[in-house]
Amino acid sequence: MNPQVTYKPSEEVDFVIVGSGAAGGILAKGLSTAGFKVVVLEQGKWIEPSDFSHDEITTFVEAQLTNNDKDQPQSFRKTPQDKPRKQQSIVYGRLVGGGSVHFTANFWRFHEIDFIERSRRGAIPGTGFADWPVTYAEMEPYYTQVEWEVGVSGLAGASPFDPPRSKPYPMPPLPVKSSGVIFERAAWKLGWHPYPAPMAILSEPYGGRAGCIHCGRCEAFGCEVGAKSSSLASVIPIAQQTGRCEVRTQSYAFQVKTNRHGRATGVAYFDKDRRRQFQKARAVVLSCNGAETPRLLLLSKSKHFPQGLANSSGLVGKHLMFNGYHEVFGTFDEPMNEYKSVAVTRVLHDFYEIDPKLGFYGGGGLDARFGTTPMGFALGSVPEGAPTWGKAYKTWLESFSRTMIVASHATSLPVETNSITLDADLKDAWGLPAMCTTYRDHPDDLSTVRYFRDRSLEILDAAKPQKIWTFPVQEQSFAVHLLGTCRMGNDAKTSVIDADHRTHDVPNLFLCDGSSFVTSGRGQPTMTIEALAFRAADRIAAAAKRGEV
Ligand SMILES: Cc1cc2nc3c(=O)[nH]c(=O)nc-3n(C[C@H](O)[C@H](O)[C@H](O)COP(=O)(O)OP(=O)(O)OC[C@H]3O[C@@H](n4cnc5c(N)ncnc54)[C@H](O)[C@@H]3O)c2cc1C
Repeated sequence: MNPQVTYKPSEEVDFVIVGSGAAGGILAKGLSTAGFKVVVLEQGKWIEPSDFSHDEITTFVEAQLTNNDKDQPQSFRKTPQDKPRKQQSIVYGRLVGGGSVHFTANFWRFHEIDFIERSRRGAIPGTGFADWPVTYAEMEPYYTQVEWEVGVSGLAGASPFDPPRSKPYPMPPLPVKSSGVIFERAAWKLGWHPYPAPMAILSEPYGGRAGCIHCGRCEAFGCEVGAKSSSLASVIPIAQQTGRCEVRTQSYAFQVKTNRHGRATGVAYFDKDRRRQFQKARAVVLSCNGAETPRLLLLSKSKHFPQGLANSSGLVGKHLMFNGYHEVFGTFDEPMNEYKSVAVTRVLHDFYEIDPKLGFYGGGGLDARFGTTPMGFALGSVPEGAPTWGKAYKTWLESFSRTMIVASHATSLPVETNSITLDADLKDAWGLPAMCTTYRDHPDDLSTVRYFRDRSLEILDAAKPQKIWTFPVQEQSFAVHLLGTCRMGNDAKTSVIDADHRTHDVPNLFLCDGSSFVTSGRGQPTMTIEALAFRAADRIAAAAKRGEV
């Protein structure tokens, strides 16, 4: 842990931020460098980069970096009429830096259309499809700020579909891998426009941090050299250096307290010894992600806020979106050694908006990747009909180093019944109601994923591998992109926060993370989460300086 100031919980700080992930880390930096006293409550531990492990058992089975089923069990159901069953359907980073530490680091900007799609396309029955209260033009300087302050590699102007930008990337793209070369050549044959993937991974030393060493452990792992541009590696050290920001670890927030005037007074939490504590603050920011932020608001119900805090609209937890995802595998004759380096080096956005004449709404992107570990390949990627035992299985396993994936990333519509709620029966290890996820893909989302599966098959067909295989497109019941559950908007009846991330109901309570999204984008939401966080920090700091918080 870096040296930092410490505050007593009884001391009233300017801001308490709950969550130190993609958004929370940036808010901590923004508010502390603006001169405010900040306490960040983070339920996870501080893990030193040198302690990140490449071990698959610690990472996937023991959930070293993520929320785990033992302490924080969850339930899932497809519709509100179904009985929830115990199932871990939401996975996120549970450590200082949150998901930005262990994510794959694909880093796409939204395009102009993402913010105004409802106006362009019209209503979609059965959904809460809406425009954002901000436009791409307002977000552009903040996307640029993310690229330069957090550190993003890429090639400006390489995709003809890219939205306008005010500055190039601060560093060149990462070197292309075999999968990228194969994808690029096949896509060119089809007349499409592949380009170097923008990644939140340093392709060269930058800002005192090391460049990527191409170890091949990005997806689901932490980066021991700090080349992955997590909040832990980039913005949190700056916040701590201000001497005004304390990151308090193993501090699990369970209630935002309010007074009789309906203002937030601070946050109650369990400390590392499971003792109840209360951090006093003049204002509260929740950045717990698209699943835990609504859960904390629902846990914070009180006499004045009987439906949960900031929930006069009844929309806290609703309109949950995941992003569609699908993989098609190709095995080639020659070794590709895709287990090395970053997961993705080429992407294409030719189908960012699917032609509405096809009869369904959707859009997305394709990339060439292989982030799969040997264990994941052996247990999770076996095609139908392949041997699962003995010598034949062993021979099949050897195709690991000759295989690549074309992955689809797609829109997900905001359906009101898709939601995060509190489970009526299940409790976590602290005795709090567990999270219940209700989710069923909109039929257009499934059509969109099928559309992208077909484009992926076309690419691999054009690449002529030895073998192509895939899995059926199915309704999702597991997610890592957690979006839309406390949506932004100008109308307090149809949204939870305003365009400055202030809740409509509580004047000194702000929410900023994946929950703020109005629509899902086309995948890779974290760049937009971080751009929103830089913008929110500016707006909140300015309002506080004007005495309006
Ligand atoms: C394996 C994997 C790969 C991914 N790859 C990509 C990718 O390539 N590109 C992309 O854009 N996205 C990717 N994502 C998603 C990405 O990680 C998230 O979009 C992003 O981290 C969300 O940011 P956030 O600020 O909303 O929340 P988070 O980063 O999840 O941060 C929330 C923080 O709040 C803490 N917290 C939650 N509740 C409490 C509480 N009650 N008290 C105290 N602390 C609390 C959590 O521990 C966490 O640290 C991936 C995710 C996974 C799991």
